[in-house]
Amino acid sequence: MLSNTEKHLRIMGTQINYYFICKTKLWFFSHHIKMEQESDLVSMGKKLHQGSYQKEKRDYTIDNLISIDFIKKGDKLEVHEVKKSKKMEKAHEYQLLYYLYYLNVVKGVENVIGMIDYPKMRKKLTLEWDGSREGELKELTEKVAVLIDGEMSKPVKTPTCRKCAYYELCWV
Ligand code: SF4
Repeated sequence: MLSNTEKHLRIMGTQINYYFICKTKLWFFSHHIKMEQESDLVSMGKKLHQGSYQKEKRDYTIDNLISIDFIKKGDKLEVHEVKKSKKMEKAHEYQLLYYLYYLNVVKGVENVIGMIDYPKMRKKLTLEWDGSREGELKELTEKVAVLIDGEMSKPVKTPTCRKCAYYELCWV
């Protein structure tokens, strides 16, 4: 069994994303209540990803924690996340920052940068990793670990709920 100090090293990118979207969703997902495969939105996202980047090497999973949509190798290692819209931009940004943190701090990969691709909008957001946000990311993983271990967070209704796979669990 992992000690409290080790738990924050076993956080998934998806859990970081959900922390910024909904704490209840984070808790459901972390307790293996996984309904995302039933969500049309998730399969739409997968099709978008597959259709837009057919030439790229895709879908790298590292330590069963982070799933990178595709990577490009050049002077730097480019880690790409493909997203449908900018609605959840903060969640996307921290998910990608966590990938950079994990690759650099935990796996020792240097010269890595992150890109969020929005193919429908023809936009990209680039995130550099220079180590200055290491403390922030470590603190974030600790907060996520505490939430997962605690009681389920009470649902709070937001516009996100309408398209959430857990809607029926929270509101019906
Ligand atoms: S339905 Fe709403 S409150 Fe419930 S998990 Fe989804 S986003 Fe969170």
